[in-house]
Amino acid sequence: MKIKELFKQKQPTISFEVFPPNKIYTLEKVYEVIDELSLLKPDFMSVTYGAGGSTRRNTVDIASKIKNINNIEALAHLTCIGATKKEIDEILKDLNKNNIENIMALRGDIPQECENKIGEFSHANDLIKYIKEYGDFSIGGAFYPEGHQETNDLLDLFNLKTKVDSGTDFLISQIFFENEKFYEFKEKLGKLNIKTPLIAGVMPITNGKQIRRITSMCGCSIPEKLKRILDRYEDNPIAMREAGIAYAMEQIIELISDDIAGIHIYTMNRVEASKKIMENIGNILRKRDENYGY
Ligand code: FAD
Repeated sequence: MKIKELFKQKQPTISFEVFPPNKIYTLEKVYEVIDELSLLKPDFMSVTYGAGGSTRRNTVDIASKIKNINNIEALAHLTCIGATKKEIDEILKDLNKNNIENIMALRGDIPQECENKIGEFSHANDLIKYIKEYGDFSIGGAFYPEGHQETNDLLDLFNLKTKVDSGTDFLISQIFFENEKFYEFKEKLGKLNIKTPLIAGVMPITNGKQIRRITSMCGCSIPEKLKRILDRYEDNPIAMREAGIAYAMEQIIELISDDIAGIHIYTMNRVEASKKIMENIGNILRKRDENYGY
């Protein structure tokens, strides 16, 4: 099913993001993670795409497993920086062949060595337009509640409007740890008459060092309240995990109460936090399903 159709059936959707194998996670391990996450019955699962197409085969295979073996809707990420139209055509053909109907269309970060080799697509909106012309996919785009690090907030909003007008069916946010930032951004989108369903990306913190690294890379801020939690628990992994899950829960409950289209959990290929979160919102999801007549 196309994710744009899913929103007509239920809101908020709950989804998980996984990443392809790396130095720590073998393909077998990633498949185990997917099997366990599938038992939690998310509405869809997304698979990231390595910069420059480095995980291309794995991304398609993993999305195919999610869709065709685990019977969960799959969202395959696809980046276009440095890619040719021929390369993108091959991936789209592969996704079609594997029955994958949803694509998260991204530009990708520009690698330093590629600055003069942007390829045939400069921005995500070029890719979105291209996919629309290619075939019948439901297309997601990224947005940044605290702005994208390469540009100023106003220009970024303007560019987001262009991206939406190119054919984006839904938007998934970069991580944020202060719901207020998300609400402020949502209000600005409202003023621009952007009504595309918004999915909030939430990351349960399980490792303090990792989160400091990720936030410094993506320009997302750590609020005082979270800083205090990190300072206190980052050297105690068990306490850090508990506190991180509780923090994410608080964010999620507040967002759900505020009519969000979906919550996307950045699982970092770990199952425990997603399991706890799904347990904690079990009654909320049952109520959602009753309201939609399930
Ligand atoms: P764009 O929408 O193209 O925006 C990039 C920059 O260009 C912004 O500053 C924007 O304001 C500006 N811009 C946009 N359009 C125009 C235009 N027409 N003219 C001029 N300027 C413009 N990276 C990966 O490598 N693999 C992944 O799987 C992946 N998944 C992600 C999932 C989510 C939900 C998010 C939020 C990010 C993800 N990323 C991923 C990271 C992403 O690739 C980077 O943040 C990248 O720097 C921007 O990608 P984008 O698609 O938002 O680009």
